[in-house]
Amino acid sequence: MLRAHKYNRPSSTQTINYRPKTPELQDMFRQYGEAYRNKYKLPPHILKTMRAIENCRTSVMGGHVDICNDCGVSRISYNSCRNRHCPKCQSLAKEKWIDGTEGKLAEHWLFPHRFHYS
Ligand SMILES: [Zn+2]
Repeated sequence: MLRAHKYNRPSSTQTINYRPKTPELQDMFRQYGEAYRNKYKLPPHILKTMRAIENCRTSVMGGHVDICNDCGVSRISYNSCRNRHCPKCQSLAKEKWIDGTEGKLAEHWLFPHRFHYS
């Protein structure tokens, strides 16, 4: 069933999201992280990871400008945390890794053995 959602008319640079946003780990950390940290004593490496995930791709991390080499169009993006536990950063790293293998791994999984018949 489709639902209508109210939205402000986007400017020419905004992305239109018709679907409600699926909650992410970052949303949960941002909403409940501070209370959780106040209630439980966490080791420093966990605190560092939680803060990285909370701030990933936000103004806290700063930003950069991407410029298309072909048409010159520019886009401003927030920087990533690059923490190995961050779902946002790891999904991008996974896609780059899969692209880098050029399908060799998928081929290996589908056809793990190559037999030559003569
Ligand atoms: Zn991240």
